[in-house]
Amino acid sequence: MKKFMEKCYKCGTNVKVDKSIKEGVALDCLKCPKCGEEYFTSSELVKFDIMTGKRKLVRKFGVLGDSTVMRFPSKVLKNYDIKPGDYGVFENRPEGILIKPIHAKDIS
Ligand SMILES: [Zn+2]
Repeated sequence: MKKFMEKCYKCGTNVKVDKSIKEGVALDCLKCPKCGEEYFTSSELVKFDIMTGKRKLVRKFGVLGDSTVMRFPSKVLKNYDIKPGDYGVFENRPEGILIKPIHAKDIS
């Protein structure tokens, strides 16, 4: 893990790369040997949310035959009124992939 900071914000002691167990999930962190303060990167915190099921809108990539598939949360389908037969257009964005739903009924 990259040391993204040198000194503890609380007491100014040099922090060390360490592991922290939060609710049974092992996370990389920087820990202050003096006051015990732990510092996490945002990706470690996202990992924690995923492992503990705290992010409701996370899905795992799966395999179906030769294809990679992902199940959609029913809430998303409902919010965007997506029905079987509709299309999803993938657009590359700096922060990730945007899926733009196109309803089959709108293009027929
Ligand atoms: Zn400290």
